[in-house]
Amino acid sequence: MWRGVAVRLLRGGGAGTPRAASGVAAAELRRRLENELEGIRGAGTWKSERVIASRQGPHLRLAGGGAGILNFCANNYLGLSSHPEVIRAAVEALEKFGAGLSSVRFICGTQSIHKDLEEKIARFHQREDAILYASCFDANAGIFEALLTPEDAVLSDELNHASIIDGIRLCKANKYRYKHMDMQDLEAKLQDAQKHRLRLVATDGAFSMDGDIAPLREICQLAQKYDALVFIDECHATGFLGPNGRGTDELLGVMDKVTIINSTLGKALGGAAGGYTTGPKPLIDLLRQRSRPYLFSNSLPPAVVGCASKALDLLMESNAIAQSMAAKTQRFRSKMMAAGFTISGKDHPICPVMLGDARLAAVMAEDMLNRGIYVIGFSYPVVPKGKARIRVQISAVHSDEDIDRCVEAFTEVGRKHRALP
Ligand code: PLP
Repeated sequence: MWRGVAVRLLRGGGAGTPRAASGVAAAELRRRLENELEGIRGAGTWKSERVIASRQGPHLRLAGGGAGILNFCANNYLGLSSHPEVIRAAVEALEKFGAGLSSVRFICGTQSIHKDLEEKIARFHQREDAILYASCFDANAGIFEALLTPEDAVLSDELNHASIIDGIRLCKANKYRYKHMDMQDLEAKLQDAQKHRLRLVATDGAFSMDGDIAPLREICQLAQKYDALVFIDECHATGFLGPNGRGTDELLGVMDKVTIINSTLGKALGGAAGGYTTGPKPLIDLLRQRSRPYLFSNSLPPAVVGCASKALDLLMESNAIAQSMAAKTQRFRSKMMAAGFTISGKDHPICPVMLGDARLAAVMAEDMLNRGIYVIGFSYPVVPKGKARIRVQISAVHSDEDIDRCVEAFTEVGRKHRALP
């Protein structure tokens, strides 16, 4: 045994030293991976990660120095990610219910707080029941396969989130992809889908790259005409769209027409993690029996449940936070447009500053950071070619001064790079 340890140490295989597998297959794999990574770098689509050394919030400290950075690129729409009451609720849940369940829900992973949170989510959305997942990615991965069979059809907006696309891939229903928010195309596809037993229209409520909102009224009218169900992903709407922050269905007055909602606890609702489906009770019951990411994955940790539960309490008590975010969104959008920028979408805290050119978006985002403003540029293949942009996300905890500083920096940087006259 000691000889083995000595040999490993001599080969650099001691504790803490990474071990490289040897052999022809491992060498071939390494070569292929390195080529692929080089390809990503060469295509200019490498995604690097900035390391944050503080809590999530409007003002950040970046690892390696940068302090007092103004943050405009988190989905922390309501500023609850570091809200003192949300943090306290997490600590209390951690102390009372432990670090985690070491189990899936149906074996020994359901605590009273999981049931309470599901009940609260259903009440918040005015639905019959709700089921928790480790993420909304999982909720989207689990629903279509559990619900739809080869006799059914699913009609999906072409710009739906990757997790909806993946969830649909996993199911055996007949698949239709309609053009982004194009109701004529959706109608044509619904007509064709009449031959199937059940039709489900699936759309993001708000689209994260453009900040545009699905035409849910028209979608629900078509669904009624062609006897279809409506599913919405409300990750970029829950907690802040609509008069009481219930989401896109409340904003557009169709709460009683949308059958299924999937959403996340990892953005506006405290920002920790977790996702859910809410809708008719028999659907939720079926998901508990059949949905694979629910059945075969660990329960949500108590601290995470505590965060989300407190975030929902705060929102159900008052919609003041959501209103303050709406006012700040309005301030940013109107000032930027007055400065001469084109901002995509309408009234949504996702404010894409449209620039067109990928390089321009990248250098402007870099220059913004040099001025202490953290924003991210997006270009092809994340968005269509020629539609590069910098995506700005507004939060309730940005002050008016933060917003004005951001607009001033954009104006300076825009002039410098000739994106503005
Ligand atoms: N759906 C949409 C529209 C999203 O933007 C995201 C997150 O980026 C997800 C689903 C996945 O949510 P989660 O982070 O909870 O997995």
